[in-house]
Amino acid sequence: MHLSKRYFLPILILALFEAVAVTLWLSKDNLFYLLNFSYIGMAIALGIFLYLRKYRHARRVVQLLVGLYMLVYLGLICRENMQIEGFWYYLFCGVFEAATIHYAVAKIFGPLIFGRGWCGYACWTAMVLDFLPYPVPAQPRKNIGWLRYITFAASLLFVAVLFLAPIGHMQSVMFWAFIAGNAVYYTAGIVLAFLFEDNRAFCKYICPITVFLKPMSYFSLLRIRCDKEKCISCGKCKRICPMNVDVTDNSRKRKNGTECILCMECVKNCPQNAL
Ligand code: SF4
Ligand code: SF4
Ligand code: SF4
Repeated sequence: MHLSKRYFLPILILALFEAVAVTLWLSKDNLFYLLNFSYIGMAIALGIFLYLRKYRHARRVVQLLVGLYMLVYLGLICRENMQIEGFWYYLFCGVFEAATIHYAVAKIFGPLIFGRGWCGYACWTAMVLDFLPYPVPAQPRKNIGWLRYITFAASLLFVAVLFLAPIGHMQSVMFWAFIAGNAVYYTAGIVLAFLFEDNRAFCKYICPITVFLKPMSYFSLLRIRCDKEKCISCGKCKRICPMNVDVTDNSRKRKNGTECILCMECVKNCPQNAL
C-alpha cells in the first residue's frame, strides 16, 4: 500500500501515455503511435521513479532518452521535421500526423496538464543547452522576450513561402530545413548562453514554441506550490531557478509563472521542504 502510493505518479503518467498510445494506434491504424507514445511514457515514468528514488540526474536521463529519440530517430532516421516548421507544414497539408500530433500533445493541449514539462524533460535543444556552464542565470532577466514573436512569424512565413512558391520535393526540403533549423537553434542557443551567462537564454528570449507553451501552461494543473506556513523567505528557490520564477507566490500570475519548466531544482534545494 505504501509503495503503490509512493509510486502513484509514475504509474499515472505511464497510464496516461498508454491511453494516448492505444487511442492513436487504433484510431490511425498505425502501430508507430503505440510504440512511440509507449516509449516516451516509459522514459518519463522512469525519470519520475528515479527522482522519487532521489537520483540526482533523473531529469537529465529523461531529457537524453526522449530528446535523442526525437532528434536522432524521428528527425534524422525517419526524416520527420518535428520542429515548428514541420508543424506548419503538416498543418498546411491538412494532415494530422507526426509533427501535428506531437505539437497537439506536447506543446498545445498537454501543457494544460503538465505545463512546460516538455521544456524540462524532453526538448532536444535544451538537452544540449543544459550541459553548458550556466544552469543558474548569472545575470538578471532581459526584457527582450518579444524576440520570440519574430522567430515565430519567421517560421510561419518560411513554410508559407515554400507552399506558395513552385518548389517540388517538399518532403526533402522539410528534412533539410530540419537540419538547418536545428543548426541555427543550437548555434543561437550556445552563443546566447555564453553571452548572457544563462543556459536557458534561448528558451527565455528566442524560442518560437513558447508562443504556444506560455499561454497554455498558465492553466497547468501540475504546478509547484509553496507552503507559506513552512517558508522562511530565504530566497534560495528564486536564486537557483533557471527560469527566474517567483515560486513562493502561489498565484497563477506569479512573476515568470509561465516560464516554469518543472525542473524541481527549487523543490530539491528548499531548506524547509516548503515546495
Ligand atoms: S523553450 Fe523552446 S528550446 Fe527551450 S526547452 Fe522549451 S521548446 Fe525547447
Ligand atoms: S527556498 Fe523554501 S524556504 Fe526559502 S524562500 Fe523558497 S520556499 Fe521559502
Ligand atoms: S526551479 Fe522551480 S520554479 Fe524554477 S523552473 Fe524549476 S521547478 Fe520551476
